Amino acid sequence: MLRPLRVSQPTSVTEASAELARLGEEAKVYAGGTELILLLRLGLVHYTHLVDVKKIHALGELAWDGKTMHIGSAVTHRRLERSADVAAHLPLLQQAAELVANVRVRNVGTLGGNLCFGDPHSDPAPALLVYNTRVKIGTHSGDRSIGLDEFYIGLFETAIAPDELLVEVEVEPVPPGVGSAYLRCARFERPSLGVAVAAARRDGRLTDVRLAVSCIGPVPMRLQELESRLEGATLAEGQQILRQAQRHYEEVLQPVDDLHGSVAYKTYLTGVLLGRALNQAVGANGRHGDG
Ligand SMILES: Cc1cc2nc3c(=O)[nH]c(=O)nc-3n(C[C@H](O)[C@H](O)[C@H](O)COP(=O)(O)OP(=O)(O)OC[C@H]3O[C@@H](n4cnc5c(N)ncnc54)[C@H](O)[C@@H]3O)c2cc1C
Repeated sequence: MLRPLRVSQPTSVTEASAELARLGEEAKVYAGGTELILLLRLGLVHYTHLVDVKKIHALGELAWDGKTMHIGSAVTHRRLERSADVAAHLPLLQQAAELVANVRVRNVGTLGGNLCFGDPHSDPAPALLVYNTRVKIGTHSGDRSIGLDEFYIGLFETAIAPDELLVEVEVEPVPPGVGSAYLRCARFERPSLGVAVAAARRDGRLTDVRLAVSCIGPVPMRLQELESRLEGATLAEGQQILRQAQRHYEEVLQPVDDLHGSVAYKTYLTGVLLGRALNQAVGANGRHGDG
């Protein structure tokens, strides 16, 4: 049962943030509500006031400026999945968006809600990490911009303060000639493992390698040390490095045994899916799907 709630619908970031600051712990930002309403219904969180951000025009914008995609935080997964600009410039994000949940969740669930919830079981997060994404955060006293890698702090914990709003997600495509692939494995409603890879091959050697993994640790992460080891390797050597990096995945990603599988299973699967995604990125230039 949902307890009675008051809902305000501010029309600017300044107004919404001031409302959050005034109401303190009583209030929470409400976008699509797919996570928030579930938690309220289950009695896992309690708020008396929701600040609905969907009337803030800037948060619903999706625009390509010739170099960067500007995605308002209230843009839904469905819009990302169906946008011709996203498909053309950010195929990894398009691939991740179309795998989220089901069409009912994608129709209302927003990219901002996905990121701000801080659930590591996120499809868009590894795709966005590969694109070196930055996020714009706003309050009643101004904006700040940070990298998505700094945004994730811990399990269900982000850099957003209680009176701040995620305003915009700024995403730059990979350089021309670099292929990409997103693969995931899903045993339950949300993904159990998601990997995003971008890479190119020049003169038989790997270059511009970017690797990101979500789900198995507390936060989605780039694997920069492995990226450096893959630079200049042949594809076969790269595959071997990825398959033999189980100890590295365990140290860096910090997986735990849970319903999604044991640590050994998760790190093994990470090597397999990263290897497949690398193959696709440099070969078929970006096929995707459940792994
Ligand atoms: C059945 C089911 C299956 C799912 N499967 C998948 C899946 O396969 N892959 C996947 O990646 N995800 C999955 N999800 C998660 C889904 O992506 C998220 O539910 C959705 O994107 C959250 O967006 P929302 O707008 O509904 O967020 P809300 O529920 O409105 O908000 C979520 C949290 O983010 C905060 N928030 C929202 N917007 C902002 C903002 N602009 N600024 C600051 N804080 C904000 C809210 O206060 C709240 O704490 C699933 C969810 C469900 C219910």
